[in-house]
Amino acid sequence: MDAGDLRGVIALDGPSGTGKSTVARRLARRLGARYLDTGAMYRAVTLATLRAGLDPDDEARIVPIAEGLDLRMGTDPDRSTVHIGDEDVAAEIRGRPVTLAVSAVSAIPGVRELLKAEQRAIIQREVGGGHGIVVEGRDIGTAVAPDAPLKVFLTASSDARALRRARQDAAEGRPSTVDATRLDVDRRDRLDSSRSASPLRAADDAVRLDTTDLDLAGVVDLLLTIVDERGLRGVAAERAGR
Ligand code: C5P
Repeated sequence: MDAGDLRGVIALDGPSGTGKSTVARRLARRLGARYLDTGAMYRAVTLATLRAGLDPDDEARIVPIAEGLDLRMGTDPDRSTVHIGDEDVAAEIRGRPVTLAVSAVSAIPGVRELLKAEQRAIIQREVGGGHGIVVEGRDIGTAVAPDAPLKVFLTASSDARALRRARQDAAEGRPSTVDATRLDVDRRDRLDSSRSASPLRAADDAVRLDTTDLDLAGVVDLLLTIVDERGLRGVAAERAGR
């Protein structure tokens, strides 16, 4: 029997360097689903903040900037695009200035409320159009999509996370040392976990996976098994009828 495509939402949360993006994209591809990188949305607001010459904790000025931002998120797992208006900002939002400032910007409650609403609208649009969607972030299972039928929380040791992130940065043309990356990653996770507005935290009903010694293809296979155990794929007949 054709198991069909994903229905509904998979929430994938965890700190950086746990393999979240790789797992989320691969999972979406294997399930014929859409993909949303919510971290890219916080990064885009941070880029706009820095371009406006503001401090990353200047709540009163940043919220209006976020409100006026023409942020356009692609949801194709093979080509996850990020545009502000017509400008492709996918590379610039990964740069060091944004990475250093993003945790402060994303701790602002007004920014979180706004982006949470946008994320829910994107999810609703995709699900309403008959697609499943894998959404990755820090608060998807706890705040953005608390009713998701599968929530996953990835963790890994500090060393493993620093190594993965440094490799990813090098592959994308941003070479750095593992030690410097570890400091960045640990600092960001501390800030993300300690903020008062929807901090980084596993939902009580999340499947927790420590990826330190796991290869990411194995993590994807394991999650596909859970998807099938929970009956989250539409059968072929339902798919034909949608
Ligand atoms: O996933 P990524 O490392 O690109 O996320 C960048 C930052 O965006 C995180 O360190 C965090 O401060 C913020 N973020 C968030 N909530 C999300 C996704 C990302 O606060 N759902």
